[in-house]
Amino acid sequence: MQYKRRQATLRGLLASNRLDALLVTRLPNIRYLCGFTGSAAAMLVTERNCCFFTDGRYTEQAKAEVQGTKIIVDRKSPLLLAVEWLKKNPERGGRWSLGVEAEYLTLAACRRMKANLPSHLRLKFAPPLIERARMVKDTEEIQRIRKAVAMGARLFDQTLPTMRPGVKEIEVAAVMEHSAYNAGAEGMSFPTIIASGARSALPHGRASQSALPVSGFVVCDFGVILAGYCSDQTRTVALGRTSSEARHAYEAVKEAQQAAIDAVRPGTSVSEPDEVGRKLLKKQGLARYFTHSTGHGVGLEIHEDPRLAAGQNEIFRPGMVVTIEPGVYLPGKFGVRIEDMVLVTENGCEVLTPTSKELLEI
Ligand code: ZN
Ligand code: ZN
Repeated sequence: MQYKRRQATLRGLLASNRLDALLVTRLPNIRYLCGFTGSAAAMLVTERNCCFFTDGRYTEQAKAEVQGTKIIVDRKSPLLLAVEWLKKNPERGGRWSLGVEAEYLTLAACRRMKANLPSHLRLKFAPPLIERARMVKDTEEIQRIRKAVAMGARLFDQTLPTMRPGVKEIEVAAVMEHSAYNAGAEGMSFPTIIASGARSALPHGRASQSALPVSGFVVCDFGVILAGYCSDQTRTVALGRTSSEARHAYEAVKEAQQAAIDAVRPGTSVSEPDEVGRKLLKKQGLARYFTHSTGHGVGLEIHEDPRLAAGQNEIFRPGMVVTIEPGVYLPGKFGVRIEDMVLVTENGCEVLTPTSKELLEI
């Protein structure tokens, strides 16, 4: 991974954002910048320097993983280590603006920092500079994402035979997760969603002790983490006979999903797929049952920028990887969602998820 280049890019953004330094405390951002995968760390990025801080538990791991930056290990918390480093290394006089990731710093941590900060330092809410950089994936990241997506899709195929009436949702999820670890996954991207029958109308119905019904939809939303990168996919399968209302809803979602995919191309707004998909569902009288946004970026984390929803200002750029996942949820009856991962290319997009979207009746 090109950690040095990422750090240099970030350093180059500080001045134009009126920051003298950025204190990075959000762990996925730290991983993005230097490769560290542990659970306690802070990073300080100034125009001239980059410094990584962790505690004694991670001495060896930091040595093995962290690239492109100085490593400082001590018993104290990484946050206080960073503050102390700033005290000892004043790069220039006068007042200093230290940017912090305000969304990822607790009030308690902030108080502790302030009590220890040198007087010339001023804390400032930093814009999401790293999150913005993370939106566009480089070649190596895309390769890893492709592998994660392929593994996720294989797991789905392997798990299908276990979906029979009477089998518990949690048993289906367990088979899938067990196969994932056997295949080399580091973990699941999120707790597997297997939501059957009336539970399929819960957009985030985690696999429960409920048994799969004789007939009805099963929404399966799952993903694996492979080499740090997540996959995310949803398929809705039908058990037994499908009512005409349910079939109509399925076909409408499928059509909306395809139209939303067709709206993904560089230079257009990330809100476009949402608008296009919602319009089609409205025609079918289903728009009011589409209760979430159309998609999100995926990478080191399962939910990243951009958010594919109305009112978002971001523009699609080549290298972005997003999900397209419209769904409709009829309370007490059934739900349908179809989700693919899509890579924005130079002249359009490529659907990464290989699984068929025809209604699968088992
Ligand atoms: Zn999903
Ligand atoms: Zn998703």
